[in-house]
Parts: sequence; structure tokens; C-alpha cells
Amino acid sequence: MEERETMGIMENVKEIADLAKKYNDGELNQKICDLEDQILALMTQVHSLEEASEESERTLSLIKKMQFKKPFYFQEDDPVPFCPRCWEKEKNPVHLIGPVKIAAGLRFGCPNCKEYFMIGGGGRDPAI
Ligand SMILES: [Zn+2]
Repeated sequence: MEERETMGIMENVKEIADLAKKYNDGELNQKICDLEDQILALMTQVHSLEEASEESERTLSLIKKMQFKKPFYFQEDDPVPFCPRCWEKEKNPVHLIGPVKIAAGLRFGCPNCKEYFMIGGGGRDPAI
């Protein structure tokens, strides 16, 4: 919901509340007060739904970009691999750090889940 629309609704309710005061009707005033609260609660809900929807869209567009090339995930035009654990568990795109050459092969590390991944070396499958 646009900020402008939200303001418009609240202004309308306030105007109605002011108009109703003329009638000096306690019940009517109370009803308008309740309505104001309900509208505020609804707008809060709409706002958080909008945020959740934006988050889903971001994740969805990431899912479309991520390509699995065993054992890692990559994005087009980005040579740095992403952590398969963070991506598969949390849909969290985290670039791996590395590779560091060690005796067993090449080691990549994830700065988020602290997992290490090995490629190449002594014939062992990547540790995922
Ligand atoms: Zn990770």
C-alpha cells in the first residue's frame, strides 16, 4: 500500500471522527475509535505482507539465477561459488572463501555456516 493511500485513509477516518463529535454520541464516537484501531491493525498487516512478498520475490529471482554445478552453486557472470549448505538450507546466498590449497586438495570455506568444502585431491567426494 502506498504511503499516500495510507495517509488518505487515516485522514478520512479523522475527518469522520471530527464530524461525529458534533452529534455528541458516545457510542458513535467509540465505534469510530474502534474502526480507527482496526484500520491501523489492518494496515500493519498489509505492510508486513508486502514485506514478505518482496522477500519472496527476491528469493525467487535468486533461485532462477542460481545454477548447481557440482559441488557448488554459481550465478551467471560470477565465478565465485556459493555455499551449497547455506543456499539449500536457508536460501541464503553466501560466497565461499577460497580456494586454499592444502594437501588433500582445494578447500573452500563458508564465512556464514563455517563449513569447509573440499574439491579435488585424494579421491574423496566433496564434503557436502
Ligand atoms: Zn554456508
